[in-house]
Amino acid sequence: MVYLNGEFIPKNQASISVMDRGFLFGDGVYEVIPVYNGKIFHINEHLKRLQNSLDSIQINNPYSDSKWLDIFQQLLGFSSGSNQSLYLQISRGADTKRKHSFESLTPTVFVESNPLTPKSKSELENGFNAITQADFRWQRCDIKSTSLLANIIYSQQAMQNQAEEVILHRDQVITEGATSNVFIVKNNTLFTHPTGPNILSGITRDLVLESALRCNINIKEASFSADELMNADEVWISSSTREVMPITQIDSQLINNGKIGKHWSQVYDHYQELKYA
Ligand code: PLP
Repeated sequence: MVYLNGEFIPKNQASISVMDRGFLFGDGVYEVIPVYNGKIFHINEHLKRLQNSLDSIQINNPYSDSKWLDIFQQLLGFSSGSNQSLYLQISRGADTKRKHSFESLTPTVFVESNPLTPKSKSELENGFNAITQADFRWQRCDIKSTSLLANIIYSQQAMQNQAEEVILHRDQVITEGATSNVFIVKNNTLFTHPTGPNILSGITRDLVLESALRCNINIKEASFSADELMNADEVWISSSTREVMPITQIDSQLINNGKIGKHWSQVYDHYQELKYA
């Protein structure tokens, strides 16, 4: 079952207009929210980011926070398995004529839920590969937009190179991954790019920083270079579905001799505690 514009219906019966601006222009925003043991993880932070994304593109939030919660809970009632990933998307809605500018329309709201199966610690301990690419995305990466062409190109490159992620650099500064935030550890300090228009402010990013603090790791929300990435003691990526994942090889160069680091292990354990707190 999925939620579409006020109704819970089977996915194969859900359809939208060909004039929907989400279809024509990718004119919409989205969120991905993990659910652990039936509990929606950091729902308020996700709804706040959703509101920021909507405000940035002048779409009125169609629902109150309590209405969103009600939709999620009803949808989760149809789902089997207590760990889920909620996907919600709001497009500007269907127009009568294709034109770039817009007037006030009724937004199209779609929500679905799929089983979430994060990798176990022992699977993660093998480490993962990443490749690097120039960041050719636009300069409003803080909006969680459904216009994801650049991210799609990168993710396809990652797949074709048997890599987990593409790590992006803008003028030699590491911004983030195609679908994740990026961290390095150097001399016991954790670095990640500051929030702003060049990255998506990840909800997991904040929780990783919180976990690191609890583990007595120094944190610095400061940018670092591609060179510093390659010479880091540890490299991690984070996202709602991947949680915090160690990267041990980048562009065929090993990080920390290809071994995961002790800080990752501590932060991973703390993050697991947060999930079920
Ligand atoms: N950066 C980008 C470009 C992303 O697409 C994502 C997640 O999809 C993230 C960062 C991580 O965000 P979150 O931790 O909220 O899932």
